[in-house]
Amino acid sequence: MNFSLRTISLLLLISATLLALLAYEKGIYKTYSVDLSRQQQIGLNTDLSQGGQTTADISYSDQGIKLKCNISLEYQWPYCELKIHLAERADQGSFDYAQGVDLSAYTEVFLNIATEGDNSEQIRFYIRNYNPEYTNLNSDGNSLKINEVQYSPNQYPTGKFIPIKDFNVVSWWLQARDIPLELRGVEISNSPLLTIASGGVVDEGPITIIVKEITFRYNLVSKENILFTVIAMWFFSAVIALLLQLKSFRQRLSYSKGQQLKLNDVLVALKLEKAQLEQLAKRDALTGLRNRVGLSEYLLRGEEKAQDHNLPFSLIFLDIDFFKNVNDKHGHAVGDQLLIQFGRIINENIRQQDKLARRGGEEFILLCMETQQDKAITLAQKLCDLIATTVLIDEIMIAASFGVAQLHKGESTTSFLERADNALYKAKTNGRNQVQAAA
Ligand code: GH3
Ligand code: MG
Ligand code: MG
Repeated sequence: MNFSLRTISLLLLISATLLALLAYEKGIYKTYSVDLSRQQQIGLNTDLSQGGQTTADISYSDQGIKLKCNISLEYQWPYCELKIHLAERADQGSFDYAQGVDLSAYTEVFLNIATEGDNSEQIRFYIRNYNPEYTNLNSDGNSLKINEVQYSPNQYPTGKFIPIKDFNVVSWWLQARDIPLELRGVEISNSPLLTIASGGVVDEGPITIIVKEITFRYNLVSKENILFTVIAMWFFSAVIALLLQLKSFRQRLSYSKGQQLKLNDVLVALKLEKAQLEQLAKRDALTGLRNRVGLSEYLLRGEEKAQDHNLPFSLIFLDIDFFKNVNDKHGHAVGDQLLIQFGRIINENIRQQDKLARRGGEEFILLCMETQQDKAITLAQKLCDLIATTVLIDEIMIAASFGVAQLHKGESTTSFLERADNALYKAKTNGRNQVQAAA
């Protein structure tokens, strides 16, 4: 299969769009999964530290971290809790709470937590935050801010995404401290510790909390940006496609313009050739004089002028005498030269408006425009004398006979030519080398 660049581009564009729509549907996330396998980061705490009797222990499995508590109602607010330190341990082995993790970019946290026993058991999930404005662990051991969410994890057997905006700073923590208004909100920009604690209200007896996964995430690309990218992609592709189309149109246009110019050249050349051919068709190849075709338009013109404007129009037939003998004596080539010279000398001795043509063989015809018959006779006599006395080539002397006629009013061409022919015949039979006029 032969894919054009255009098809490949379109397929790429469609693929990119499908990917973008998938990303639009699923989202593109930056995630941060809390490593639950680092046991040195995990600790526990119960109300024992406040004088209560609750006990707990931790065990680890492929499932996650299991916190088993045995709640005693000895203390006023009995609890047990699992502590997952995000801060690393300092030199002395205690955690460096001032060096927490900045979670402020994350918009939600995925909690996959389960409890055993009572299905409606609630747990509390804390993100503790360090801020020197209110945290001083030397004077107040509980001064890491408590950002809390409380829920029943068994309602979400496959886990639950909880938006960070659903977290609250616990009220008893705020009440016990004099915190300025601007610092009383949820704050997770420096969080060294996560805590999963038993619910606020508990019964006496065992509670088991299993923590399987804690993952923070935020959307790297907003849905608006994805949509914008898709639209921009198509828009620019369309613009590029249009520009390419325009370019190819331009190329085609200039190509066809070039072709048109070439065609014009050919046309001009053809016209020239046609004109040349037309000229050639009107000329006699040997003498270069007009032939019968070339003469016919002047014959027509002379007749028109005579009929329409009453102008005189005469013609002279010329026939070389005994030309056959010349050929026989000197050869055909010399005969040809004689014909050429004969045409030239006649042409040189007539007016420009008079037209000479070769009728064929050694016969010529001379049209005398706007000329009376007597003037034509005078001209014919002049030419007759000239030919008879001029050495054309190599001391060869020739003579010619002339028949003259003037067009009668209303006469046909055939009759006109016939009368001139008869006059020529008369000159021949009368002894040649002379001029005879038609009756
Ligand atoms: P007439 O005085 O009765 O006209 O005699 P003629 O010999 O001139 O006339 P004829 O009609 O008997 O012969 C014409 C000759 O002209 C015959 C031919 O060989 C010659 N001829 C015709 N065309 C050409 C040509 O193109 N070149 C040459 N060299 N001779 C030609
Ligand atoms: Mg002849
Ligand atoms: Mg002749």
